Amino acid sequence: MTPAPIYLDYNATAPIKPAVAEAVADALRIGANPSSVHRPGRRARQAIEAARDQVAALVAARPADVIFTSGGTEANNLALGAGGGRRLVVSAIEHDSVLAPASRIDPDRILVPALAEGTLDLAALDATLAACDTPSLVSVMLANNETGVIQPIAEVARIARTHGALVHCDAVQAAGKIMIDLAGLDVDLLSLSAHKIAGPAGVGALVVRAGMPFAAGQTGGGQELGRRAGTENLAGIVGFGVAAELAERDLDRADELVGWRDRLERRLVAAAPDASIFGAAAPRLPNTTCVMMPGVASELQVIALDLAGVAVSAGAACSSGKVAASHVLGAMGASASAAGSAIRISTGWASRQADIDRLVEAWAALHMRKKAA
Ligand code: PLP
Repeated sequence: MTPAPIYLDYNATAPIKPAVAEAVADALRIGANPSSVHRPGRRARQAIEAARDQVAALVAARPADVIFTSGGTEANNLALGAGGGRRLVVSAIEHDSVLAPASRIDPDRILVPALAEGTLDLAALDATLAACDTPSLVSVMLANNETGVIQPIAEVARIARTHGALVHCDAVQAAGKIMIDLAGLDVDLLSLSAHKIAGPAGVGALVVRAGMPFAAGQTGGGQELGRRAGTENLAGIVGFGVAAELAERDLDRADELVGWRDRLERRLVAAAPDASIFGAAAPRLPNTTCVMMPGVASELQVIALDLAGVAVSAGAACSSGKVAASHVLGAMGASASAAGSAIRISTGWASRQADIDRLVEAWAALHMRKKAA
């Protein structure tokens, strides 16, 4: 009998939790428009507002500041659009859902470099903002999707404030993996996505700090307090709420995941002494390892592991499923060949130690085969 596949690709999508799937199914059966004033409509509205409370609690925000969107990508597009003509200053290691709209909205947007360990170059940010003669909006993610490196957002915000800049933070990968406190981070805008925290795909949120001027990205209805028109994705939003509440409880498991991650990395490097871990010197998410096996292309590793029943990603697997050179690893100074031989292993709520054992065995076997070839 073929063993069940091992899933170690939580940063791509965290499989939905059973309680979330049940909540989604229940919400689908409500069958009413949350804007309707009758009883079924009011029930739908209540379900949405309960979810808003749950999502706000995950990041210690005010429920009224949460705008539901179709996911992290829309939240990032909306956030950058909220700059209202400000110069966009974005880190070079952002996800494409920040980099692409930044170039579209502001063709003169400025990229801030990263250091070799994977964190933003804060001195470069300070110098960029000092040299900028127009008001700006800075966008830096809380944790990187490829390396798991956690960015010093509170420090980014402090620097940005001294130059009068607004701050957006893409917290899509950090949510549910590390504690997030909106006020402590001192950002104006924060993006979230449900499917990264074991909720349904196609729903997310932009959290907008009270008092921040915000113009709707799409119009045509008064939903979300006029900030995002269109009938709400009731079932998706309810699932997001339940996922957020459960994710908050999962934060208790962070130390266990850090233990697994560190042991995993020691075993990988013991099996392949020429291997290295990207971002190992920086604070990182408890669940993410980006490892490089020199001379073996990322795609080949992903395929070999898949054949062995283990699902991981090439560091830079993008939405089309093709593997492009990783701009993140490139920004950290990795050569094209080093970046092209990295894979990302990411654990989550249903992972077990035995999954990691299988991965290490399969990866070490591939390394042995390559050495022998
Ligand atoms: N931001 C980061 C850091 C991500 O990793 C992703 C998804 O991979 C997104 C944004 C996009 O989120 P969504 O898939 O919900 O559009």
